[in-house]
Parts: sequence; C-alpha cells; structure tokens
Amino acid sequence: MKIRQIMVVALGVVAAALAQAQPAWPSKPVALVVPFAAGGPTDVVARTFAASMTKTLGQSVVVENRLGAGGTVAAGAVAKAAPDGYTFFIHHNGMATSTALYRKLAYDPLADFEYVSQAVDVPMTLLARKDMPAANLQELLAYLKANESKVNLATAGLGAVSQLCGMLFQRAVGLKFTEVPFQGTAPAMNALLGGQVDLLCDQTTQTIPQIKAGNVKLYGVTTKSRIKSLPNAPTLTEQGLKDFEVVVWHGIYAPKGTPKPVIEKMNAAVRAALKDPDVVKRMDDLGAEIVPDAKLTPEGLQAWLKAEIDKWGPIIKAGGKFAD
Ligand code: ASP
Repeated sequence: MKIRQIMVVALGVVAAALAQAQPAWPSKPVALVVPFAAGGPTDVVARTFAASMTKTLGQSVVVENRLGAGGTVAAGAVAKAAPDGYTFFIHHNGMATSTALYRKLAYDPLADFEYVSQAVDVPMTLLARKDMPAANLQELLAYLKANESKVNLATAGLGAVSQLCGMLFQRAVGLKFTEVPFQGTAPAMNALLGGQVDLLCDQTTQTIPQIKAGNVKLYGVTTKSRIKSLPNAPTLTEQGLKDFEVVVWHGIYAPKGTPKPVIEKMNAAVRAALKDPDVVKRMDDLGAEIVPDAKLTPEGLQAWLKAEIDKWGPIIKAGGKFAD
C-alpha cells in the first residue's frame, strides 16, 4: 500500500473510532424554544409535547420561553444557535407571516433552519371582555361601530396569530381599533380578564378553559365548520363574515446544520407524541387537531411553510402594516 493510501485508511479508522466515542444523542437535556410567554397557547402545545418527547428520548426536553417582537426574537436566536442537536424551536403561522410584516428579519425562515415536523392545528376564537354589552356577533358589531375610537384589541405582537386574526377581523368589518401588543397570549388574556382590553382573537389551546368558566365572552370560531370542543359556538363565516378562516399550525425547527440522524430521531419523537394518549386527550380537550401523516415529515413542513409565505404575503401587504 502506498503511504497516501495507508493514511486514508488510518484516518477512516480514527473517524470511525471518534464517531463511536460520541455519546448517543441526546446525552443531555434538549431545549425547545417557545417564542411567547409561558402559559399561553404555543407554550401549552410545547409543554404537552415536551413531556411526551422526554419519555421517548430518555432526556428532558426543556421549554425555554424567549419573548419579543411577535416571535421573531426567538426565531433569530435559534437560527444563530449551535446546530448540535440541543436546540429546537416551535413556532406557528408567525414563521410565515413575519416575512411580510417585518422589513428586515435577522433570519430567513426558508434557509436558516432544519425542518422537523408539523404537530397540531388549532382553531381560534373571537373573544371580548366578560362585561361586553353584546349577546351575539351582530350586537358586538353594533357596539364596536358606536365605540370604534375607544376599542382596544389585545395581541401577542406583530407576527403573532392574534394580531393576524385581529387584522383580518378589522378588515372584514371595516373598523379600526387600537392594538395593544403583549409578549404572548398569557399576559394578553390577563388584560382581557381584568377588563383592560376589549377584544382578543386567540387559540382554543388557551381560550377554552376561560370560555367554559364564563370568564370571557365568545363571539365565534375561525374555522370553516364548527368545532367538536365548542359545538355550540357558531363560526364567524356562518354569521356573515365571508371566508373568515384562520387555523393555527405548528412547526418544529432546528438550527441549519443540525445532523440529519438527530432530526430523524426528533421527528420520530414528535410522531410518538401524537400517538401518546396523554397528548391526544389534552389536545382534544383544548380543540387542537393532530395533523395527517403527510405533514409530519421535514419536507412536508418546509413545503407547507413556503406555501404559507406565498399565501399570506400578499394578504398582509395589502394591509400595509410593517415593522422595521
Ligand atoms: N397565541 C399567540 C399568538 O397570538 C402567542 C402565544 O402563544 O402566546 O401568536
């Protein structure tokens, strides 16, 4: 054997030995970054999945809440995190809509991440403070029209789905309210419960318990048809708001360059969570729907994200609302 060949073989042996010496992933806790406040809808989904994935992976999956700018602060931080398999990120439609809402983003959603899987789809609910003097959507619209300049709409920031839903609602009814941004739905909901804001459109994963307890007033759901967990709640469409449909989808991401075997194991852990009876029950109670298998692949998530960017870009830009 020539010296060069011997060296190549020797290097191969060293590389194989090093690979074997690497502890199997995961050998320490895995972070799952949530871009909104603890206790909110995205956080509830993340914590439910994290508990199940912890069982599957044999290491803790720890939720970390990184707040700010409608989810874009967390997305930027994850895009720059080490691709070592110990940072993952869960985000919703905001991963797509922020590209149209922000003039500059510190990351490219289609280039700076690895794509793990989608998880659950969640309907939204249009809510008002408990003492809103309106028994149904028609009465609410009359009230909002008469009090337009005084009405406050809570959101979880520009890029949040609550902001998207609120924007679509204002456009659908031809009114303009004062938007009050919070760093997640948990604080926005507290403001609604305290009567400091009038309106909030947000995911059932946090709103159902408050609706059922009678702490807020519900005026409709944002899905095409009525939902199982709130069977008596009419859709906004059936009450005359034509084509008013927003469903919140969730994607799980990792920094670009995270090793493929790690992504595959994480994908398997997400799929296992979707079959975990504890996850299925909790998601069902909170109105969330487990997505079909085709959406549970890295390619499926990436293609979906691209389609969502293409879908929402023109709709949002038509509204002319941007942040730097
Ligand atoms: N529901 C949120 C949103 O409006 C954020 C959250 O999960 O707290 O985007």
